[in-house]
Amino acid sequence: MIIPNVNVLSDGQLKEVTDIVAAFGCKVMVINGQERSIYAIVGDERNDDMVTKLEGLAYIDRVDRIQSPHKLMDVRATLSTHRVKLGGVELGREPFFFAGPCTIDPKNPNVTIETAHAVKEAGAHVLRGGVWKPRSNPYSYQGDAKALLVLMEASRQTGLPVDTEVMDEEHLRLALAEGVHCLQVGARNSLNYALLRQIGQAIADRDTCVLLKRGLHMGPAQEFIAAAEYIVQLGNPNVILCPRGTQPALDGYRNHPDESIVPLLKERTWAPVVVDPSHAVGKATYVPAAALAAIAYGADGLCIECNVHPSQGIGDDPKQAVTPEVLKQIIFQARELWRIRRSEKS
Ligand code: PEP
Ligand code: MN
Repeated sequence: MIIPNVNVLSDGQLKEVTDIVAAFGCKVMVINGQERSIYAIVGDERNDDMVTKLEGLAYIDRVDRIQSPHKLMDVRATLSTHRVKLGGVELGREPFFFAGPCTIDPKNPNVTIETAHAVKEAGAHVLRGGVWKPRSNPYSYQGDAKALLVLMEASRQTGLPVDTEVMDEEHLRLALAEGVHCLQVGARNSLNYALLRQIGQAIADRDTCVLLKRGLHMGPAQEFIAAAEYIVQLGNPNVILCPRGTQPALDGYRNHPDESIVPLLKERTWAPVVVDPSHAVGKATYVPAAALAAIAYGADGLCIECNVHPSQGIGDDPKQAVTPEVLKQIIFQARELWRIRRSEKS
């Protein structure tokens, strides 16, 4: 924010200021107050050379760098009236559910198809499923583009939009070409700024959503929100924040369950928050409690791994996927809890 020592900059002064910031890739937005005008710098205003040049002008008092490092994601930003919609449903209006297998087995497509019908019946809004998998072990199953066709077939049969993780430009290209509705950025990649930019650029003119997982080692909430800012600043604001547990793990869990970050995210940003309890706890029997805890903390929804035959699944399913019956129960209870929370507010 540029604070002049005059109430209003003359046309010549405004042009001089505009030219300086333009040289650093920024623009000036004039905000006209009753008494005086203020001048917001749109773009990365942290460049010291730019600030020095501006502060060197006789009619400039100082440059206040905007307090929020995430100017677009900030709860006070103009974008805060934006509502993310997926499959025609606006997040935030009702509890929103992503569900499906961890990994789509292209050799066993019926499991994904059956699971897709079952999660729809249980009340899910989006079918999730990994086509390409980020595996800690290089010898584990890494995914297969053929699984994308299975996912899209499940989407056609059920009418559910789909969510799948992309890890590189080729995945991104294929997923968009097939019409994937929501791109997932995984916990290992949410600090991969080159990938975040590629995704932001590729979806700038589309209504595709992004489910952005919280990084495995992300500490401050700011780091998470800034990752979303990377995507949004390229033009598409349909980002959903997804806490999914962090490292080091709480002894006995797969990760450190982090649903308690929800109120903090809600206070700082306008983005919808969908918690993934499956990867947070890593064990099917713990998932229902963690899911409800997330709703109690104010999450807009949940992303849950579910498989009609967890033991036959690949990836995480044998240990952490719930059955469709359990999913149905979670969705029922989450809706009840959501209603209680809403009635508390009114
Ligand atoms: C997944 O959703 O299956 C997955 C690998 O998630 P994460 O990136 O959170 O580990
Ligand atoms: Mn998984």
